[in-house]
Amino acid sequence: DAAKPSNFLRQIIERDLEQGTYAQRHWAGHPADASDHLKGQADPAKIRTRFPPEPNGYLHVGHAKSICLNFGLARDYNGVCHMRFDDTNPEKEEQEYVDGILDAVKWLGFSWDANGTSHYYHASDYFDFMYRAAEYLIEAGHAYVDEQTPEQMRANRGDFSRPGTDSPYRSRSIEENLSRFREMRDGKLADGAAVLRAKIDMASPNINLRDPALYRIKRAEHHNTGDKWCIYPMYTYAHPIEDALENITHSICTLEFEDQRPFYDWLLDRLAEGGLINQPHPRQYEFARLNLTYVLTSKRKLKQLVDEKHVSGWDDPRMPTIVGLRRRGYTPEALQLFAERIGVSKADSWIDYSVLEQALRDDLDPKAARAMAVLDPVKLVITNWDEIMGAGFLDACSAPVHPHAPERGRREFMCGKELWIERSDYEETPPKGFFRLFPGNKVRLKYGHVIECIGATKDANGNVTEVQAKLVPDTKSGTPGADAVKVKGNISWVGVADGVKAEVRLYDRLFSAAQPGAGDKDFLEEINPDSLKVVTAYVEPSLKSAKGDEKFQFERHGYFVADRKDHGEGKTVFNRVAGMKDSWGK
Ligand code: ATP
Ligand code: MG
Ligand code: MG
Repeated sequence: DAAKPSNFLRQIIERDLEQGTYAQRHWAGHPADASDHLKGQADPAKIRTRFPPEPNGYLHVGHAKSICLNFGLARDYNGVCHMRFDDTNPEKEEQEYVDGILDAVKWLGFSWDANGTSHYYHASDYFDFMYRAAEYLIEAGHAYVDEQTPEQMRANRGDFSRPGTDSPYRSRSIEENLSRFREMRDGKLADGAAVLRAKIDMASPNINLRDPALYRIKRAEHHNTGDKWCIYPMYTYAHPIEDALENITHSICTLEFEDQRPFYDWLLDRLAEGGLINQPHPRQYEFARLNLTYVLTSKRKLKQLVDEKHVSGWDDPRMPTIVGLRRRGYTPEALQLFAERIGVSKADSWIDYSVLEQALRDDLDPKAARAMAVLDPVKLVITNWDEIMGAGFLDACSAPVHPHAPERGRREFMCGKELWIERSDYEETPPKGFFRLFPGNKVRLKYGHVIECIGATKDANGNVTEVQAKLVPDTKSGTPGADAVKVKGNISWVGVADGVKAEVRLYDRLFSAAQPGAGDKDFLEEINPDSLKVVTAYVEPSLKSAKGDEKFQFERHGYFVADRKDHGEGKTVFNRVAGMKDSWGK
């Protein structure tokens, strides 16, 4: 797709397609237990990526970047992206999370069904193959069972300044290793009593190559395989095998895994030598994870916010989870646009939150219907209304649904003697440059008449309880001569007669620190106490028929969405998605 800006991953894929890197695959002969998962993979020339979440929480905006990247590359290069649950860890995984993740990927606009084939996989389906591959490594002299204590193992691993020390178990015979490994599998050893390790190089400058663990003993029930296994593969061992069995070509992950790449290649090279996997094997490429200012992108910390009730749930509109962003009013298109704009790079950086909000505005501006809303209402009384317009008369006004799309028609609302206006639109003593309501000044009621402010009534505390003005005849917007009276200010309003009372939730950033939890700060102490303000507002009558999840631009105020959970049937509830312009830098 030449229209898309290039990046290092696109260049690698284009090179591989041009050189036919994967076009001539050497097939190992599929292991029986994996063959089901390799159906429909007859075309080796296609590139294959995967999105491999662990089902231990809800996805967040960082995952959205990874989803758009992996599914987007497959789409753009006529390839396939696999939806794979990396469920090799028996603990922490739940069906609720599996369902949530699938929903999020679909909502973002992607599908794992390609050409009539479902590319939906579970890593745990490969446990039998992973076990056989481990026995193969033992037989080929590439793995051994280590029975040092975890403390001894840690001490003998060495560190950056000194090489590690070989385990006394490293020189065991193949036969002894094999029988010990089978005893591990058969439950003859206690949890933690032994691990299977790769035999690579205890002096390697890359600590990940100092005989990494491949299997550990863990008596835990697995959601997919039940109690069949009491040994489980380590993530670093399982992941390359998952990729290889699924014929992934480009295995794209975040930079933290860069130091694991030599082991990824070591393992797949050994399995290829043994004829266990297809060749050429997948290659790992790393990109910088998304860091977004004022936002946490760690499932563990987000779970803590939910568990400790700092937010109302995973879908709280302040959460950077995909369900949270969705409820906040973000659209799939805005998140895709955001992912495209931030691009992929090999260097870690922080993206300003305003980039996300701008993507939302750019997506919604041409789409969202306009509406008037008064968020901090005070009553305006037009004292000469009865005299000029007639007692009880309501003056029909209208405005375009969308200013650039006349074909979408007009919204209608009534102007009357009493209106709701923004409290901040009146000042007794106007500051410099204030052109709205103050005694003696004229402003236009948007889509209506010009009025001249008389004054206001206050309560004992000095708070304005009512503003008064006079209507200036023959100035109605859209009628001949309406512009004869010049005004500098234009105010939005909602009729008391036909306005709809609404609960409006004004969300702000959840954290007051740009990098929550950075340094030795506790991220919980950096929660913004004013991240949610609920107000009683009045909105124009066209919003009576708003459906849950429908987005609007409230004139002057920004973008709002009818809350997908709480709006409807006798309750009007809107969430603020974003203001009209960036306020994050301030
Ligand atoms: P977390 O650290 O939030 O728990 P994770 O990496 O453990 O995230 P996984 O479920 O393993 O979560 O992630 C699935 C995929 O999403 C991985 O390929 C991972 O690289 C990618 N991913 C996770 N977080 C980010 C991020 N902040 N930016 C880009 N990609 C991410
Ligand atoms: Mg992970
Ligand atoms: Mg993690």
